[in-house]
Amino acid sequence: MADRPRFGPAGIPPLFKILGARLSDIPRLLREEGLDAFEYQAVRWGQKPQMKQEDAESLGSEARKNDVLLSLHGSYYVNLCGKKEVVEASKRRLVACATAAQWMGAYVVVFHMGFYGRVEKSYAFRNCVNALKDVVATMNSLGIQNVKLGPETMGRVFQVGSLDEILTICEEVEQTQLAIDWSHLHARHQGQFRKVDDFRAVVEEVERRLGIEYTGKGERRHHVLDEARYGPDFAMLAEVIAEFNMRPVIISETPILDVDAVKMRDILRKVTEK
Ligand SMILES: [Zn+2]
Repeated sequence: MADRPRFGPAGIPPLFKILGARLSDIPRLLREEGLDAFEYQAVRWGQKPQMKQEDAESLGSEARKNDVLLSLHGSYYVNLCGKKEVVEASKRRLVACATAAQWMGAYVVVFHMGFYGRVEKSYAFRNCVNALKDVVATMNSLGIQNVKLGPETMGRVFQVGSLDEILTICEEVEQTQLAIDWSHLHARHQGQFRKVDDFRAVVEEVERRLGIEYTGKGERRHHVLDEARYGPDFAMLAEVIAEFNMRPVIISETPILDVDAVKMRDILRKVTEK
């Protein structure tokens, strides 16, 4: 878990782009909004880091100066249970992401595991676990020790990433970090989160299996918060965060990234003060 609940956007907020902000300006601008986390998007990356080391380092030093915790969203072109060549290329993509994460001081690379494909689900899943162990071994041989891998819960039944699978990975593979995408879980289970108890059940399951320290990376959402019909209701999750005294990093991936991150921060504040 983080030192406190932290909030931030997945990627550069639209307004910052309009203002012509450079990457190294982002932490200061987020701080001015009262946000304290930023997820760098490396989602189109190939097998090499697609940013200069010096740019990553200056983002990192600005983030530390402004008390913004960095994470990195890994390449979408990862499938750890495909054909051998696909898996090997996917491993290299993850290592490239971890390398850049290390440069900038990001604590985790969040990523999507892949697709079951035509093979049996449990067989596909074992392949993922083994591939991930290889990635961690490579990271260690390169001296990447402070970056964790955060496989994410996925929204579709043909994607690897049920809550149980992600928890199993966190139990079995070193240097991993739970990443719950609540709106993906909600979608996977056709609207699982209708009341506070539904959120609590997930948190209790995580606590039972991993201990509560590992509920680090929290909420991600795909739709604008005010449209309550989409995705789960953050106010309910906020109650559970407060109840369990959790300190998650909550990343907003709605179209108005930072604005919704601020809203979620304020919702949690209100609940905590109650
Ligand atoms: Zn994702």
